[in-house]
Amino acid sequence: MKIALISDIHSNLPALKAVLDIIDVDQILCAGDIVGYYPFPNEVIELVKEHDLRSIYGNHDKAVITGDTSWFNPIAASAIEWTRDNISLEGIKFLEELPAQLMFEDVAIVHGSPHDPDEYVYPTTSPAKLEKFLDQVSKKVLVLGHTHVQWSLELGDRKIINPGAVGQPRDGNPKAAYAILDTKSKEFTMHRIGYDVEETASKTLEVGLPQHLARRLFFGL
Ligand code: ZN
Repeated sequence: MKIALISDIHSNLPALKAVLDIIDVDQILCAGDIVGYYPFPNEVIELVKEHDLRSIYGNHDKAVITGDTSWFNPIAASAIEWTRDNISLEGIKFLEELPAQLMFEDVAIVHGSPHDPDEYVYPTTSPAKLEKFLDQVSKKVLVLGHTHVQWSLELGDRKIINPGAVGQPRDGNPKAAYAILDTKSKEFTMHRIGYDVEETASKTLEVGLPQHLARRLFFGL
């Protein structure tokens, strides 16, 4: 089976559309943060449902459900507040039903790390710790998100893949990020696709979300 791995959509509809338009796969899996930051939470959730996308929840999805922003910086917190004011009741219900993790035969999907959805895991994280994460899920492939940085690492015959962020890349490349995985061979490829950043940025300003959120999209930072 050919699957697309995505993460961190963050209510950026033009970015999600660009990814969905270009991929041709059997299934799409998302490592969380469907909403938060950008101005299209309801449209993004509709599209996620339409494409039968299977997702876990991320820390931003959780904050939108609970209203608890104590771990967020002021900009992220104000975007959570805005989302709570503008998301539909069905949208909230949809987020509430998302699982914390997804486990398949060979693939595990988590948001931050296997034991903490808020933990940032980078390729610079110690190999011993990365091995421990793989042991913990006991799968050949561990997929995570949260950092908005696209990276991957192979440890023996096991792999960790962060497909990067669809909606707010932070690795210096403003294009939407995703990965394609062949579940049989476990071969994967990383991809980027440009989208109409201006559309998201102008709507972000129009609805009164923080300027910084619009600006960073052009730089992928
Ligand atoms: Zn995120």
